[in-house]
Amino acid sequence: MGRFRLDTVSDCAKRGYNLRIECRGCNRVVLANAVLMQVELGAVRTKWPLERVQACMKCAECGKRGATISACEITF
Ligand SMILES: [Zn+2]
Repeated sequence: MGRFRLDTVSDCAKRGYNLRIECRGCNRVVLANAVLMQVELGAVRTKWPLERVQACMKCAECGKRGATISACEITF
């Protein structure tokens, strides 16, 4: 990592990365397709900094708001 700056969801989508979302409450990890995430957020035109998305995330498991998002390579 560290070759590109991946600051927004669209950066990840464009570079072909997935998003690894880790809950700050229960450490549940979810992999999300950055392209789908972008559509879901309506981020096609708007830039969504990962920091901002992190604050909006809500865990389906423990209901805690806030997650740590990092880019991960698509391995499937
Ligand atoms: Zn959780």
